[in-house]
Amino acid sequence: MITRTPSSRPTLPASLRDSEVSTTHNSAPLWQQSLAQAVKTLGELHDELGLETQHIHLAESAHRDFPLRVPRSFVRRMRHNDPQDPLLLQVLPTAEELHATPGYSVDPLRESDSVVTPGLLHKYRGRALLMVTGACAIHCRYCFRRHFPYADHHPSGDGWDQALQYIAGDATLSEVILSGGDPLSASDHKLARLASSLASIPHLRRLRVHTRLPVVLPERVDSSLLGWLTGSRLKPVMVIHSNHPREIDDAVRDAISRLRGAGIPVLNQTVLLAGINDDVSTLRALSEVLFEAGVQPYYLHLMDRVDGAAHFEVDETSARRLIWQLMQELPGYLVPKLVREVAGAPAKLSIAPLTTP
Ligand SMILES: *Cc1c(COP(=O)(O)O)cnc(C)c1O
Ligand code: SF4
Repeated sequence: MITRTPSSRPTLPASLRDSEVSTTHNSAPLWQQSLAQAVKTLGELHDELGLETQHIHLAESAHRDFPLRVPRSFVRRMRHNDPQDPLLLQVLPTAEELHATPGYSVDPLRESDSVVTPGLLHKYRGRALLMVTGACAIHCRYCFRRHFPYADHHPSGDGWDQALQYIAGDATLSEVILSGGDPLSASDHKLARLASSLASIPHLRRLRVHTRLPVVLPERVDSSLLGWLTGSRLKPVMVIHSNHPREIDDAVRDAISRLRGAGIPVLNQTVLLAGINDDVSTLRALSEVLFEAGVQPYYLHLMDRVDGAAHFEVDETSARRLIWQLMQELPGYLVPKLVREVAGAPAKLSIAPLTTP
């Protein structure tokens, strides 16, 4: 996510694109092998979970538009034969995605307006966001990356040079955010090179990583990753993305411990999703489970209005009521900030709780 639910309308230069996710030879790191074994067909997902066909609206054309992809360890966290499982609903292509809804579009945030060089978004003061790769380990149905125009990308260009030049030329920047797609679906070799180039830019102070991998593929947090992330003068920060307390299992807790043990602060962002986490008990449990694992709740995002995701939308009034309930049930430090991204705004917009019934 993202940004939370990262975007990628803009064209990425060639060297930012290839994810190396298809590397499966024996010397590949464990996480790349797990990634290569992800579930990618409706039939397989169906069999793994013992779903009865009449319960799911298999939408082959939704799948063709934005293919199913989900790591096996994430599938194992889903309940058997439960078509309403909140983890399953995040990844299952359905016929509902094919309905066009007024107010929804393929680029709801007009991110293309903020592209300063291929793959680099500079929207907010002090921070620039680098789309390291278009690839993800999991395909979340509500993501606005789903309309990524893969076919438009022709290998060309000079990789990160242009982006690095831009960052080096703007002394107001103190932080670079690695995003995507999921930046951690790129190889450590590539990421280490990038981190070291960024560290050589004197005005940068922090390196932030926005990723869902520690949650959906926790073996990604290995010593090689910790090596480049903590191996430069830049202060690392990681923002993970989880939406439901059942996503956090022992392997995820271990991955977070490794990050924290290496001195990396870990924050979480959540997308508010109808039928998945739009109730106070789920959100409360999520904050508590995350905190116990060593993660600080950060943002609760109102979903971006991307084509195909209207059935996940929670209206703003309900969201504002929910956050007020949450504030009454949790200590302040466990309540994520409710935000919406608005095209052209200089920061994510904070949404106030609705305190009247
Ligand atoms: C979300 C986002 C950021 C980071 O915003 P924070 O409020 O600092 O978390 C930076 N750049 C872009 C383009 C973003 O979408
Ligand atoms: S991990 Fe999911 S939400 Fe994040 S960019 Fe990939 S598909 Fe989108």
